[in-house]
Parts: sequence; structure tokens; C-alpha cells
Amino acid sequence: MTLNKLTQTDTLMIDDRNEPVFPGAILPHWSAMASQKGFSIAARVVDRLHLALRCDACGGLTKTRLSVLMNYQPTCAPCLHAKHIATAAAAGLTMLRRDPSNRHYGYYAASCGHELRRQFALIDQASRGDKALRCDTCLQTKHMAKAAAHGWTLLGCDPDKRVNYRHYCHDACGAEQSVTLGNMTTGRFACAQCGEVWSAAPSAIYLMRFQLVDGRPVVKLGFSRNPASRLNHQLQSGRTRTGELLRVVHLPTGAAALHAEQGMHQRIKATIPCTIVPQERYVGQIKVKSEIYTPDALALITTLLDDLAARLAA
Ligand SMILES: [Zn+2]
Ligand SMILES: [Zn+2]
Ligand SMILES: [Zn+2]
Repeated sequence: MTLNKLTQTDTLMIDDRNEPVFPGAILPHWSAMASQKGFSIAARVVDRLHLALRCDACGGLTKTRLSVLMNYQPTCAPCLHAKHIATAAAAGLTMLRRDPSNRHYGYYAASCGHELRRQFALIDQASRGDKALRCDTCLQTKHMAKAAAHGWTLLGCDPDKRVNYRHYCHDACGAEQSVTLGNMTTGRFACAQCGEVWSAAPSAIYLMRFQLVDGRPVVKLGFSRNPASRLNHQLQSGRTRTGELLRVVHLPTGAAALHAEQGMHQRIKATIPCTIVPQERYVGQIKVKSEIYTPDALALITTLLDDLAARLAA
């Protein structure tokens, strides 16, 4: 019989916790079982039911119930932690810490900078490419932007808990209603209170020119139901008051305006990508995240708008 060499007043640091050593013998058949399973017994800890196992592979300590050692394969906590870090890296994340309230979950930093709480099994699947990981915060921002583009404000989940629905407020009339994410993307739904159908309401594509604080002019191509108010209230911040509406082409519906506008951005991107102005040049000056071009794009944009106006008039 091997005597526990440590005394009752000793403690062992296991997984960032100081565990008190439990006095008493370590039985030979326990040690034999530990060695079969890739461990040695460092000490008995906490009470008569627990052991501190030392991993043969990494030398790290794990607190395990005696019954787990005798009946199952114990898991080395430091080895598992190292595996979680490596799996997270393979899935494009940085492992931050485990969730102390649930041993199946951990906290991760995503590449966008947001923190995610995810199940280890899911990170495993993502590291093999079997599952896509998405950031809830970024997704929420995307949903909010889509709603804002159609004149609605995202309030939260559907009160009836339907998965593909979200609850929104109509900016124009203040009514609240649930709408599917798909319908909010296309705008093909009507407000139950005022009856407005965004995609069916008239809209317009506009071309604006701005002078940035660095003195250089840029142009913006976009769509809005009211380009003049968009110029005055939404796009310009306090730092620039030099915006000018160059051109407006009216379209019968918001859906048609959105479709035509997206087609034009694709044409510009494919034909003259060098005219796309990097966001850092206008951040804080114009309240948009893209769709800003150098004046070199004016010739192509004018042609595209002419073509659109001609098609509408035909
Ligand atoms: Zn280990
Ligand atoms: Zn994010
Ligand atoms: Zn309404």
C-alpha cells in the first residue's frame, strides 16, 4: 500500500484552483488502473472520492472522481484545453476561455472582433469545414441595415418565436409587426396599419457629389424615395456641407430602384474598380459604408443613368 506522501495541509493547483489534499492511502489497484489509462495518481484531493491525476503526455493535473478512473477513460483537462485552442484556430477563431456554467461551451473571439459563445462540438465541425460559423452581432447589424433601407426599425425576436421572423417598427406610422427576414430583404410586404408597400412605392436613383475634408471631390450613386432629404439629413455629417445632387432618375417602385442601383454598382466594380474610394477616406464625413467613387466614374455612371432613363421612357 502506497501512502499519500502529501499531508492534509498541502494543496495542489488544478485548473487554476487550489484543491486541498485529502489524507489517506492510494491503493495499488487504483495506481495500476491510472497507468493503464495514461495517468499517474498525484494525490487524493478534496474528499475520499476524488483524485488528482497527472497526465503521462503533458504532465498536467486533472481532478477526477475515483469512480471515473475505475470505470471510464478520464480526460486530461490541460490536453483537452490545448485541443480546444488548436481546433478554434483551425476554425478561424481565438479561444478565449471555457464557459464555467457549461462544460460543453467556450467563449471565442471571431475575426470581426466580436465574442462568440459556442459549443465545442460545433467548433469541431467548423474546423473541418462541415459547419459555417457566423457572428450574431454582425448578422444583427446586417438585419438592422436591411430594415432601415426599407424604412423599418428592427425591434427584436418575433413575439410568437417563429424562427425566420423578426419584430419591426414602421418608421412612417409607428406600427409594429413581425415580418420574415426574406420579405424584409425584398421589401415585398405591406404595413398592416398604413398599408404602405415599400417595394411598390415610387423611388429614385440619385447621383451626388461631395467634397471630402481632404479637399478632393467624390461621387455617390444610391437609391432613395427622397434623394433631396437623403442628401440633407442622412448622408452629410457636421464635417461636410458640400454635397450636391447631380442627377435623379425616378423609378416606379423601390424594388426596381434597388435592382437597377445594384446592377450599376456591379458594372462600375467590373469595369472601373480603380474609382472605388476606400472607406477610410470618407469615414465620419459621409454616413455610408460603400458606393463612393472618384469623379473618374462620372462618365460611366452618366451613361448608365442615361440608359436607365431611356428604358423607362420607352
Ligand atoms: Zn495531458
Ligand atoms: Zn461580428
Ligand atoms: Zn405603417
